[in-house]
Amino acid sequence: MTALFQTYARWDIEPKKAEGAWMTSTEGKKYLDFTSGIGVLNVGHQHPAVKKAVKEQLDSFWHVSNLFKSSGQERVARLLADKTGLSRVFFANSGAEANEAAIKLARKATGRSKIITCTQSFHGRTFATMGATGQDKVKQGFGPMLSSFEYVPFNDVNAIKKAVDTQTAAVMLEIVQGEGGIYVVQQEYLDTIQTICRETGALLIIDEIQTGIGRTGQAFAFQHFQVKPDIVTLAKGLGNGLPIGAMLGSEALADYFGPGSHGSTFGGNPVSVAAAEAVLQIVFEEQFLQKVSEKSAYLFEKLHTAFKESNEVQEIRGIGLMVGIECTSEVSGYVKELQNVGILVLNAGPKVIRLLPPLTAEFTEIDLAVEKISEILKIKETV
Ligand SMILES: *Cc1c(COP(=O)(O)O)cnc(C)c1O
Repeated sequence: MTALFQTYARWDIEPKKAEGAWMTSTEGKKYLDFTSGIGVLNVGHQHPAVKKAVKEQLDSFWHVSNLFKSSGQERVARLLADKTGLSRVFFANSGAEANEAAIKLARKATGRSKIITCTQSFHGRTFATMGATGQDKVKQGFGPMLSSFEYVPFNDVNAIKKAVDTQTAAVMLEIVQGEGGIYVVQQEYLDTIQTICRETGALLIIDEIQTGIGRTGQAFAFQHFQVKPDIVTLAKGLGNGLPIGAMLGSEALADYFGPGSHGSTFGGNPVSVAAAEAVLQIVFEEQFLQKVSEKSAYLFEKLHTAFKESNEVQEIRGIGLMVGIECTSEVSGYVKELQNVGILVLNAGPKVIRLLPPLTAEFTEIDLAVEKISEILKIKETV
């Protein structure tokens, strides 16, 4: 009998040791990890610089509370602010909490409560962020949601024009829908959102929890597009496995989050902040991001070649190292079979295989993953 609530459909694998893109199970089986802890370990398992920063912080102190000054938080906030042009940062512990902060700030700053999000979006599992999420399966059984959310189809220009009005506090969306199936936003859609937000005074919140921190080959996915968000939320890759989330906002919003307005006991924990600082020093390097784009081009090219003639693969989508392979059939069997041959991948909805390799993965590791995926999907590479 388990003492755990069975909230996760867990795999039959228990990790014992992991390094870089590789994990060894307690049974001694080696796996190439193209899940990165669901887009978290962007610089790989046990990155030496992150480990060093965490160890050094542990040797100094590991918690004091936000009643004290924190030069670590100041430095990480400065790195994030300089890279986004959003000059204020609030630290939380998770993605859902970062989005909670965004929702609270948008409501307070505008004095309005309606927030428009997209169908198939994912924004978290707290009451507000579950309400923001545009997927019914996340909400089943929990009774009435926070009533302030309305949903529009992703990339539907006319629907967003109709939905946003002078009662709207914010529009909230992902640049690439992660959990929803790896769907990439279109520039025209962002243009429409920007215009309608400007006309109505609504704010634009971009959820970069999965897409941020170099995942797409830019520091933040919105930087692939012409768009200027008022608020950006982060978590997953920020601490490379140490729990930390962040909400970034424009200077115009600063006064609405003053003393006593919001907070978190653990938010901006010194150990997580030390990890985040080490992560950002690596990931924000132009050469590092350039390399991610090269690996991405290589991975997409290999996948397109492998599945050119395939009836099973319908579409290959994504940006950077956030990749979806849409199949004709359900993919849960493939995910299991890939585990058997030593490759860990995710799904995104029932029919999409999702690849989120560490951004530090080698070209040879990409080769291996594509080789095994094409074998399992029964396609012979036409080399
Ligand atoms: C994972 C995720 C969240 C929720 O993050 P948690 O840390 O699990 O609360 C929110 N938005 C997006 C886009 C995500 O991918």
